[in-house]
Amino acid sequence: MSNPCTRCGNERIVSKTWKEVVVSYGRTTTITHAQFVCIDPKCQKIVESELLAQKEKREALANQKELEKQARAKH
Ligand SMILES: [Zn+2]
Repeated sequence: MSNPCTRCGNERIVSKTWKEVVVSYGRTTTITHAQFVCIDPKCQKIVESELLAQKEKREALANQKELEKQARAKH
């Protein structure tokens, strides 16, 4: 499965894998997760900081909406 870096397009490598046991409908399934990183550590750092910035933006937006909702509810 191809998993290129979103920033530089280089093929990414697996930095770590972990297993998760999920129980659903009485059945136990083991899911193997893998974290992919860019082969260029500098690029990976930039990608991570961009992801973090996006996440913070989304959270700030969600907080903003929540505050607006609360403000409206008061009236
Ligand atoms: Zn990259």
